[in-house]
Amino acid sequence: FSWSSRPKSFTTAETYKEGDSFELKIKENLADAIKNEEFVLFYQPVVDMKTGRISSLEALVRWNSPIFGFMPPLEFIPICEKTGLIKPLGNWILNRAMEDGKKICENLEYPMDIAVNVSAVQFEGEDFVSVVKKNLEETKFDPTRLYIEITESSLILSLDNILNILKELKNMGIRILLDDFGTGYSSLNYLENLPIDGVKIDKSFISKIEEVNYKKSILSSIISLVKKMNLDAIVEGVEEESQLRYLEECSCTKVQGYLFSKPIPITELHTLFDKKIII
Ligand code: C2E
Ligand code: CA
Ligand code: CA
Ligand code: CA
Repeated sequence: FSWSSRPKSFTTAETYKEGDSFELKIKENLADAIKNEEFVLFYQPVVDMKTGRISSLEALVRWNSPIFGFMPPLEFIPICEKTGLIKPLGNWILNRAMEDGKKICENLEYPMDIAVNVSAVQFEGEDFVSVVKKNLEETKFDPTRLYIEITESSLILSLDNILNILKELKNMGIRILLDDFGTGYSSLNYLENLPIDGVKIDKSFISKIEEVNYKKSILSSIISLVKKMNLDAIVEGVEEESQLRYLEECSCTKVQGYLFSKPIPITELHTLFDKKIII
């Protein structure tokens, strides 16, 4: 079994079913992969529209598997979530992001935030807050530099639990972002009732903005709503100059996308710093 022999139509994160052999193969290899340090975090900059500089880096996990090849997260994260392996993996991700973040912050003259994606499954069962605390102690990473990104879809599980966890995280100085905003439901309810600091407006809202005329109005309305609630509005998936110009008109606060940089390894981050990204 190898990556190249995996039939195209066979299995992806979207189509795999319980018991699929691809899923089993991944499951078999995941625990070892964590031990063997086969995972790596890439970082994608988020650019502040006011300063034109990078204000944070989002950690995005990749699996460099000797068996499957270079695996994007959407191929293995859902399987990790189903099997519970997201807990050890998520713990590793938090730890590594904080370790990396510490190094990055030490080498910069201006503050840099690190954003970590957290799956809803990590909120279940064992105490997520103490996992975060433990990693903060181990790495000595400043919690006020940490963003945790949660998705709307994860919030339908148990709102009370999640609310308590988010409050505890906030008390520690950690900031919370609602990810993929607009793709789930009850969005407006969450904006009002969760202790969040900002929303990441899903890339589907910015895409084809020049081709479909009502899309601009939808996007600008979302941004203005978010800003009226005193939340940061971060638009993901910015690929074109024209999109950026429109976002400037909308007074969007932060942007992220291939226009600025793809997610890159920590060793390449130096190429991004010390220059203004938006000119
Ligand atoms: P996400 O959190 O919404 O991350 C943004 C995704 O959009 C990333 O894909 C990023 O590479 C991609 N992206 C960024 N800019 C652009 C752009 O301009 N155009 C387009 N088309 N795409 C862009 P990636 O790295 O493949 O991650 C996919 C998803 O996997 C993430 O979506 C997140 O839900 C999940 N994921 C990634 N890393 C982690 C992790 O460490 N933990 C957890 N729980 N989930 C993760
Ligand atoms: Ca994210
Ligand atoms: Ca997102
Ligand atoms: Ca997503």
